Amino acid sequence: MDLKHLEERVAELGEPAYRARQVWEWTARGAEGYDDMTNVPRTLRDSLAADVPFSTLAPESEQRSRDGTVKTLFRTHDGHPVEAVLMRYRDGRRSVCVSSQSGCPLTCTFCATGQMAFGRNLTPWEILDQVLHFRRSEPLNHLVFMGMGEPLMNVDAVLEAARRLPDIGITHRRTTISTVGWLPGLQRFVEEVDEPIRLALSLHAADPGLRSELMPVNDRYPLPDVLALCRAHWERTKRRVFVEYVMLAGVNDSQAQARALAGLLGRDAFKVNLIPYNPTGMYDGSSRSVIAAFKTELDRARVPSTVRLTRGQDIAAACGQLAAPARPRVRA
Ligand code: SAH
Repeated sequence: MDLKHLEERVAELGEPAYRARQVWEWTARGAEGYDDMTNVPRTLRDSLAADVPFSTLAPESEQRSRDGTVKTLFRTHDGHPVEAVLMRYRDGRRSVCVSSQSGCPLTCTFCATGQMAFGRNLTPWEILDQVLHFRRSEPLNHLVFMGMGEPLMNVDAVLEAARRLPDIGITHRRTTISTVGWLPGLQRFVEEVDEPIRLALSLHAADPGLRSELMPVNDRYPLPDVLALCRAHWERTKRRVFVEYVMLAGVNDSQAQARALAGLLGRDAFKVNLIPYNPTGMYDGSSRSVIAAFKTELDRARVPSTVRLTRGQDIAAACGQLAAPARPRVRA
């Protein structure tokens, strides 16, 4: 729901501003539509229903994985595809992975999203409507900005959306924004975000030459600058930056590369998340034993690390696999 549009409409109708707040509270708690909002006068509900679409996104299709993961494909009003994923865990965790852009202008070689056409930045409401779609079926408690797009290229909309998540039940401590190290956005995040929102950095290689091969953005924003900002964030908040490192067989997974990674990061400011590669065409994933050996090197250097659990691979909902098909052609 476009909350700005909502507030404007409420004002134009000569209604008090708290009516817009009531509508948002209902929506954030999982209401199915204006009809549910029983403390809002019927006539106002009817006018709003006619003027302010309940969602800015239209769900187009939904896929369910054997592991309980759900992936939904939406369309924006102007036809751009957006995907979001709900992950369910046995311990009750319900984590949503949202997109911040339709497609992605970056071209990381291992990620399928970079291979589809880039559409545009999403609005805060288009980001929140992905969350609200899942909220209508169950309570949610975690969120990651790890779907399509580079969140810090769209930093205003991402922060506006992130700041409203507690209304939906997702606290800042359980919210993570992931970035390739998009420096201007990262700078803003580090300087102005006071909420305890988690920062994650997609690193994937400690060696600058290799990182540039995997992630061309590395030529634009050099790693030392990016890491300096991450360290500044840690200094300021004492919250570790999570480092994402996708394990590519024979590319970045040797024990020597693990030691280089440990040397680059140090023990204090970072926690490494090793990600098993989800097939997107170009590479082979590292075997479990190679991932374990890599982790052992990090353990030895006392750099904290975990191995990410892969979810939703059978429905192409796992990390790096979001690549919605182009809009089906309408036949004449
Ligand atoms: N653009 C931001 C947000 C997307 S997060 C970023 O890159 O951080 C998506 C995460 O999945 C990133 O860490 C990305 O590097 C990782 N990823 C991309 N392709 C992948 C693949 N094929 N297998 C596993 N992880 C992948």
